[in-house]
Amino acid sequence: MENFLQELNKSQQDAVLYNEGPSLVIAGAGSGKTRVLTYKIATLLESGYAPYNILALTFTNKAAREMKERIAGLVGLPLASRLWMGTFHSVFSRILRANADRIGFTSDFTIYDSSDSRSLIKSIVKDKGLDDKLYKPSSVQAIISNAKNALITPAAYLLNKELMESDMYSKRPLIQEIYQTYWNRCLRAGAMDFDDLLLYTNILFRDHADVLERYRSIFRFVLVDEYQDTNFAQHLIVRQLAREHGRICVVGDDAQSIYSFRGANISNILNLKDEYPGCRTFKLEQNYRSTRNIVSAANSLIEKNKEQIRKNVYSENAEGSKIEVLNAYSDYEEGYFVANRILEMHSSDGYVFNDFAILYRTNAQSRIFEEALRKRSIPYRIYGGLSFYQRKEIKDVISYFRLAVNPHDEEALKRIINYPARGIGDTTLGKIIECGVKHDVSLWQVIVSPLEYALPVNSGTLGKLQKFRELIEDFIEENRSLDAMEIAEIIIRRSGIFKEIFSDRSVENISRQENIQELMNGIQEYCSNRREEGNEHISLVDFLAEISLATDQDTEEDGTSDKVTMMTVHASKGLEFKNVFVVGLEEDLFPSSLSKSSESEIEEERRLLYVAITRAEENCVLSYAATRYRNGQPTAMPPSRFLKDIDPCYLKLPSALSSGNKIPGLDREPHFGKYTSHASIYRNKTTGSRSSFPMWDAEMSASTSSLKKVSSLVSSSTESEERTLTSIGNISVNARIRHDRFGEGTVVEISGEGDNCKVGVEFDQVGKKQLLLKFAKFTVI
Ligand code: ATP
Ligand code: MG
Repeated sequence: MENFLQELNKSQQDAVLYNEGPSLVIAGAGSGKTRVLTYKIATLLESGYAPYNILALTFTNKAAREMKERIAGLVGLPLASRLWMGTFHSVFSRILRANADRIGFTSDFTIYDSSDSRSLIKSIVKDKGLDDKLYKPSSVQAIISNAKNALITPAAYLLNKELMESDMYSKRPLIQEIYQTYWNRCLRAGAMDFDDLLLYTNILFRDHADVLERYRSIFRFVLVDEYQDTNFAQHLIVRQLAREHGRICVVGDDAQSIYSFRGANISNILNLKDEYPGCRTFKLEQNYRSTRNIVSAANSLIEKNKEQIRKNVYSENAEGSKIEVLNAYSDYEEGYFVANRILEMHSSDGYVFNDFAILYRTNAQSRIFEEALRKRSIPYRIYGGLSFYQRKEIKDVISYFRLAVNPHDEEALKRIINYPARGIGDTTLGKIIECGVKHDVSLWQVIVSPLEYALPVNSGTLGKLQKFRELIEDFIEENRSLDAMEIAEIIIRRSGIFKEIFSDRSVENISRQENIQELMNGIQEYCSNRREEGNEHISLVDFLAEISLATDQDTEEDGTSDKVTMMTVHASKGLEFKNVFVVGLEEDLFPSSLSKSSESEIEEERRLLYVAITRAEENCVLSYAATRYRNGQPTAMPPSRFLKDIDPCYLKLPSALSSGNKIPGLDREPHFGKYTSHASIYRNKTTGSRSSFPMWDAEMSASTSSLKKVSSLVSSSTESEERTLTSIGNISVNARIRHDRFGEGTVVEISGEGDNCKVGVEFDQVGKKQLLLKFAKFTVI
């Protein structure tokens, strides 16, 4: 043990070795909080704790995996693999499966992802004949989610005076009724959404003292990372498990609390001492991650927040270079600058692409950077957005898997009852749903007993339903004995999906085939990993549980190859990269226009920037653009107020446009007319030579010098390529659209220019289509 403790400083060792009572490690970014948790677990294992007596909760699955690997390196894999370690959602879904009968579920319950729950809400709003503008499914979903995170069930909602008298309620008087229906339909479908996993765990522990007691004695030590971002439901689960025995250690940083929109409550960590008597607090002050300059810049920023625990964070690393500030005329130019800067650092400073991350405030910003990187052949990976498991063909296959495990799963059934086509149309489905609602049974029950529930369909349709039922029953039966890989193969073949997708090699089908192949690879990998951990039978339900809990950070397709990482700042929490570009530092973007109405919202946005900057180990670049396309219009964007919060002595500002240490544009409103015409030049495809581009004309010295250097690297980049970027207005990759004929879908690619501009759309019902923008009839939703 002495050996590995030497890899910690004195304060970290103290925190690791104190196990006599509750403890809290509160410390700034990069100071080794996660490292303390990791080493504490290793120490507990060495001192005789059995791995299954330790519960460690992380914010992402990826963090759990990394921690497990590290612990395996310290004490060996056999011990590490038997720890209870994972996100709140993954750990407690396991516990719920084991105790499902106590709360009215079976252990095969389905987990609805966010799009499943939105689709269910949509259908409820429609069934009730309500206006879907007033009861917008995404807003209703957020309201329900907030209620669940505050542990308010539909019944409790009715009794909650504050909620019932709120503005939100008077505007949408049927919200409670929708919530109640949603609740009932999930229950009937044997499904839980993400928030239910936390809510039902609380209900399980509250109502079943014997179950709580059992887990209290199993989890003899509880550890939680990123505690500042726990919500009430999570906080209460931890409290129920650990308060009595007090063997708990949580780590966090109030300055990095960035999830209040999901109900996270910073006071959970601030008040911890009151809840756990005798709780000892440890502070870590040395940052091991970043250069001195980055640490000082981040400190100078976060000091501007009034609400915070003051900390002295310092670094003994090299001083490093100043944080570079890049200012661009437009969002497209920003993409260009960043891509070029990456190429430059890659070729002259010996970095690999894995060393770079581009962090943005919203997913929609990724498109421009994707274009810019693609043009320069820079490989990248994007986290978040449309994940692999959301692709149409994958969701279809997964829906069959879900039915094989739980045939009552309404969303899965609706999705594939007529895919591949078997003559069961929308009208029949509508009747099945109506019948289910009327008799308060699942759609599957209606299909199994159509006569009992008086399903009004003709004998031809009854025959088709009967065949569908036999198909699914066949899968259910096979699934009882086969393991995940075997049953997956059977399902893909017998369902008809194989024939549908593998029968021809059209371009469209090839990518679907590859995706399905990739899914099979994923199952195989999952099975062999689980076998390595000593499990013999790996069931489909285990695999489904694993994939349904993927988070923003888990959508990586292959972690081994050399690629630039792109993700939102929220998803970057806990991670580190040698070089970080934080982009879009403009008012109404960062801080977001939705988070400017109060000082506390601004403070949260400031913390978000603190998180972004502190991801950087060696270099950090901040960029902003003077204009940006928003809602199809070029819009003037003043630089973010946060740029002014950072002490200028840590910044390298664009020199020609700055006088002294001023942020260009910060003290003046950009001249809007100028930018409009500038943007229109991009749009006009007949505009002549390169020099007509303002960004070339501007001769912005700092940027220009790098521009000149890299223009030789990228001499093939043409202005016509630049123009195509803007010719599509507000449509971006990942945008959701509604098409007159094909229904709803997600934009997956944009190509061509001017009249030839094409948008590739993955439609929910009909698969991928290329649409010529000029003729396409759709609206962005
Ligand atoms: P964040 O607040 O961003 O989650 P953190 O406080 O959890 O950060 P860690 O990720 O644990 O910090 O540590 C930051 C980096 O510093 C990691 O690369 C870690 O391995 C390294 N580190 C931490 N402590 C030490 C130490 N005593 N010696 C060497 N490296 C260390
Ligand atoms: Mg950490």
